Amino acid sequence: MKPVFAVEAADSLSRARAGTVNTLHGQFPTPAFMPVGTRASVKAVDPRDLRELGASIVLSNTFHLMLRPGAELIASLGGLHGFMGWDGPILTDSGGFQVYSLSGLRKLTGDGLEFRSPYDGSSFSFTPERAVEVQGLLGSDIMMCLDECIQYPASEAEAERSMAVTLDWAARSKAAWRPESGQLLFGICQGGFHPRLRERSAAELAGLGFPGYAAGGLALGEPKALRLEAVEASFSALPDSKPRYLMGLGTPLDILDGIRMGADMFDCVLPTRNARNGQLFTRGGKINIRNARYRSDPLPPDPRCGCRTCRTHSRAYLRHLHAQNEPLFPRLATIHNLAFYQDLVSEARKSLLAGAFMCYYKQFLDAYSPEGRD
Ligand SMILES: [Zn+2]
Repeated sequence: MKPVFAVEAADSLSRARAGTVNTLHGQFPTPAFMPVGTRASVKAVDPRDLRELGASIVLSNTFHLMLRPGAELIASLGGLHGFMGWDGPILTDSGGFQVYSLSGLRKLTGDGLEFRSPYDGSSFSFTPERAVEVQGLLGSDIMMCLDECIQYPASEAEAERSMAVTLDWAARSKAAWRPESGQLLFGICQGGFHPRLRERSAAELAGLGFPGYAAGGLALGEPKALRLEAVEASFSALPDSKPRYLMGLGTPLDILDGIRMGADMFDCVLPTRNARNGQLFTRGGKINIRNARYRSDPLPPDPRCGCRTCRTHSRAYLRHLHAQNEPLFPRLATIHNLAFYQDLVSEARKSLLAGAFMCYYKQFLDAYSPEGRD
């Protein structure tokens, strides 16, 4: 059996690297960006669009799928791959973050979590073992351990209590996992924004031994400096021989910083959500297609992008579709924004293989306006 992860090139000026992850449904190159398909669907696009725009792995959501339509139903229809018609690698997050975002509707029990369904208010209990079982039924290639997210800011004592819960759940998840299934299980590092706790969490997870690791509990409204410190502390104690996944981040600049700090995998709703709101990414920064200046603009969304939307359509046409609320708009905009993110990571990968990552990083930062370009 192939190793889970092979590093192909490592940067000499940062922790960035290019590699390959092997899964049951084939391999994918890293750094990798995973489009978010929460309910077994990446909003507005289909699996053929995803292939064409360069995605090699997609993310879906354990929590939502177990409530609607149910993991057993999906298992009976060929698992998530058969159900959604995507034959490449799939990662499912465990549901820890979704349960966290229910706030008033959840409570911690001795065994796991209790929560009320956001769909119909019925009560559910959720344990690390059930999270592994559900992801087994979904048939995802990469499963995530159930973790507990805490709010920002949290005291060090609260972050430490929560980190200990997540570590206990990681050990229970590993015990419930059947490695012979071929499905991979990743551990999640927590510890709030306290580097000492992040390092301890990472070291103890590494001691348990997982095929890959993630840094979770980020992008909760914290300042960027704190986030970078937490990422660095999380990754410092993880083995270089395993893939590292930075969960839920982020802007193009967050992704490049993540790569610089050693992250191999990313997911974020930003490209898909922004597309539906009329915000399109370009090498110069975001543009808002609703802006009147694009009314008669014949240029494609990003003249440097080679996606189907940019090859075929003008800003003026996209602005018209958006203004008229045409259902074609979210599809064309999502294809472009996801292609932009795929290009971002594949260009980073090419620069790593050529030994010039920091050069690419600086060039991108010089050209890109974080406030947008309008
Ligand atoms: Zn494009």
